[in-house]
Amino acid sequence: MTLKQATEKEVYGYVHSFEPVGTHDGPGLRSVVFLSGCPMRCKYCHNPDALSFGGGERKSASQVAERCLKDRAFTSGVTLSGGEPLAQGEFTREILRLLRKKRVHTALDTAGSVYDEAALELAGLVILDIKHTDEREFEKLCGYKMDNTLKTLQFLKRKKIPFWIRQVIVPNITDGSENLKALASLSSGAEKVELLPYHTMGVHKWEKLNMPYPLAGVKAADGELMQKCNAELKEYINGIERA
Ligand code: SF4
Repeated sequence: MTLKQATEKEVYGYVHSFEPVGTHDGPGLRSVVFLSGCPMRCKYCHNPDALSFGGGERKSASQVAERCLKDRAFTSGVTLSGGEPLAQGEFTREILRLLRKKRVHTALDTAGSVYDEAALELAGLVILDIKHTDEREFEKLCGYKMDNTLKTLQFLKRKKIPFWIRQVIVPNITDGSENLKALASLSSGAEKVELLPYHTMGVHKWEKLNMPYPLAGVKAADGELMQKCNAELKEYINGIERA
């Protein structure tokens, strides 16, 4: 039986792009599906071309799942990323359902801007990107409220859904001690906490779209800064675990 026959009805959505073998989006080598559309507007977004809803290619959930299954032999699973995968809730849930039926490990790479309990429960792993831990700074950085991100985090903990926490370290924005301390506290129960260095590799996409880049002049986070932030975060996490 094909996946299409296995579904009661086809669910369609929009896919920005597909990466057959991703190495940074979950455990092991992953098929990564980038879904179009995101309600947030992070100042450093490196996928500004994936922000609009209805952009990219229209696909059915079974087409997406079947494409991922082709690479099953040499990947450890599938990660749905974006854009914001939870912003196309029905489509995301259906892809997760189909892959689950085939016993494929799934991960959801989300900033939690859309609260979707059903989708979270279907994922094998949720990689939650907490853009900032301070409510006001979060809003300044993302043009969006952090409520749903916090609700998502609470739900993951309550339901014991495996999750990782991520944050991008942007010099002078997220590298402060207060933020790292709060991140350590929010991360309790996470299987992994990852700090990612802010980079400027997506700037050309903003230029191509004729959009002014909001963080022009901010330098990439270098190795020294990342080392300092990782050490500080580790110290806070250890402190919490000892308490
Ligand atoms: S949540 Fe991700 S895709 Fe959405 S604006 Fe922020 S960085 Fe871009």
